[in-house]
Amino acid sequence: MTQVKLYDTTLRDGMQGQGMSLSAREKVRVVRALDRLGVQFIEAGFPSSNPKEVELFRLLSDEPLEAATVSAFGMTRRRDVAAEDDAALRTLVECFAPAVTLVGKTWVLHLEKVTKVSREENLAMIADSVAFCREEGKRVIYDAEHFFDGFRDDPVYALECLRAAAGAGAENVTLCDTNGSSLPEEVADATAGVVAELGEATSVGIHTHNDAECAVANSLAAVREGATLVQGTVNGYGERCGNANLVSILPALQLKMGLEVVDPERLLMLTETAHYVDELCNVSPDPDQPYVGRNAFAHKGGMHVAGVSADVRTFEHLDPESVGNRRDVLPSELSGRATILSRAEGAGLALDDVSAQRAVERLKEREHRGYHYEAADASFELLLRREAGEYLPLFRLESFRVVTEKREDGRVQTEATIKIWVNGERYLHTAEGNGPVNALDRALRGAIGDRYPHLADIELTGYKVRILDEHHGTGAVTRVLLDSSDGHESWGSIGVSENIIEASWEALVESLEYAFQPRKPVATDRANTSVTP
Ligand SMILES: [Zn+2]
Repeated sequence: MTQVKLYDTTLRDGMQGQGMSLSAREKVRVVRALDRLGVQFIEAGFPSSNPKEVELFRLLSDEPLEAATVSAFGMTRRRDVAAEDDAALRTLVECFAPAVTLVGKTWVLHLEKVTKVSREENLAMIADSVAFCREEGKRVIYDAEHFFDGFRDDPVYALECLRAAAGAGAENVTLCDTNGSSLPEEVADATAGVVAELGEATSVGIHTHNDAECAVANSLAAVREGATLVQGTVNGYGERCGNANLVSILPALQLKMGLEVVDPERLLMLTETAHYVDELCNVSPDPDQPYVGRNAFAHKGGMHVAGVSADVRTFEHLDPESVGNRRDVLPSELSGRATILSRAEGAGLALDDVSAQRAVERLKEREHRGYHYEAADASFELLLRREAGEYLPLFRLESFRVVTEKREDGRVQTEATIKIWVNGERYLHTAEGNGPVNALDRALRGAIGDRYPHLADIELTGYKVRILDEHHGTGAVTRVLLDSSDGHESWGSIGVSENIIEASWEALVESLEYAFQPRKPVATDRANTSVTP
C-alpha cells in the first residue's frame, strides 16, 4: 500500500489567520516540533528578500531534520516571461529547500476574470515552471488552486492543467479546495477521477479549507479515493474559517483508517505538539478540540463516568493515550510524575520520589494560577531545580521602581531603578528604556553585567502577553511569555501576575537565571529534547 504523507503549511497558509504572527526563530521551533511528530513535508513560505524570510531560510538551512523535507512555496511563472527569467522562480530554485511547491490556476473563471491569460498560455505557464524547477534539481509539488470549482465547471480543462504539471515532472499534484466550498462527496468523486487519470506515476494530494466545516472530512474522503499527500495546518489555523486541521487528520488516518502515517511512538506527541504550537502562536489551546483538547476525554455525567470505569470503549472513541492526551481530571499533560522525572533527567537533575511528588503538586498549584509551561521550558526547569535543591539565584532583589512619563509633545519615556544584592554586595542602577520591561532589563544588566559577562550574549527575542480573564474566579491575570537566546540555545520563560510589570519581571528574571544554572553543556535547543514542556 502506498504511504500517506502529511504536508504542513502552518508557516504559510496558517499564518494568514487573524492575529497569527511568528518570528523566524519561533517558526524554526514549529518546524522542529513538526519534525519530531514525523510530518513529512513542511512548507516554510516564499524565500523572499525581506529580512524575516532571509533569516528563516538561513536558520532552516542548518537545521538537522529527521523526518521532514522543507518546501519553498511560489507561483508559476508570469505570463510573458520565460521560466528561467522569472525572478520569483529563480529565488525558489536558488533556495536551499529540496522541494518546491508551485501554485497555479485551474479554474477557467479565474483565467477569464482575474488573470486574463488564455487557456493554452496557462498550461504552458504550468509546464514551463515545473520543468524549470525540475531541471534545477528540485522535487516539485504542484498545487492546483480552485481545483474543485474548476472541475465542476470544466473537468476536461482542469485535468489538462494537472497533466501539464505531471508531464513536466511534478511528483505530486495537489487538488485544492481553495475557497472551502466543497462537500465530501464532491471531493471523493473528483479525487477518484484524478487518481484514475494520472495513474501510478504522479501522486495526488489534497488541500482543503474549512469554510463549509468539511476540511477534515474532505481530506479523509480524498485519501479514501487514493490521495496520498494531505496538506493542512496545526490546529487548523488559517484565514477565514481555517485550513484542514492536521491534528485531527493524523489520528483519523492512523487510528481509524489503519494507515501508518507516522511511527506510533510519534503519535504519542500529538497533544503536546498541538499545545506547544498554540503557545508559540499565543493562542489559548481550545479545551474542546477533538483528540487533543483538555475536555476531549473528560467525562462529567455520572452515567458516563460509571460506563468508562466499566469499560472505556463504552464512551470513548479511542484511547486518549494513543494521541498523548489523557482521561479527564489532571490539569496538565505535564502533571504525570513520569514526565516530570524524565524531564528532570534530561536536565541532569536527580529528583527522588518525594521531590518528584512535590514538583507535581507545585505544578498543579501554579497551573491553577495561570502558569502554562508548554512554551516556557526554562521556567519549568527552574521549577524542577527548586524541588531538587539545585537552583542558584542570580541575585536577591531589594526593590525596583519603574516610572513612565508621557510628555506634552507625545514622547514617552520610561526609567527603571533597581536595587539588588549579590553575595552580600549591594548594586544600584538606573536605566532608560523604550518601555517598562526594556528599562528593567537594562537596569538589571547595568547593575550586574560586569559580574556576569555572559549576560551580554543573551538577547530577548520574543515577548507575548495574554490576559487570562476571570481565571478561576480570581479576576483577570496577565501571563507573559518571554523567549530568549544566547546565539546557541533558545529558551522560553513565563510570568503570571495581576500586574503586567510584575509578570514581565518574573519572566525576565527566570529567563536570565536559566542561563546561569550550573549544568552539563547542552548543545541543542531545550525545546529539542524529547519531552517538550
Ligand atoms: Zn490554502
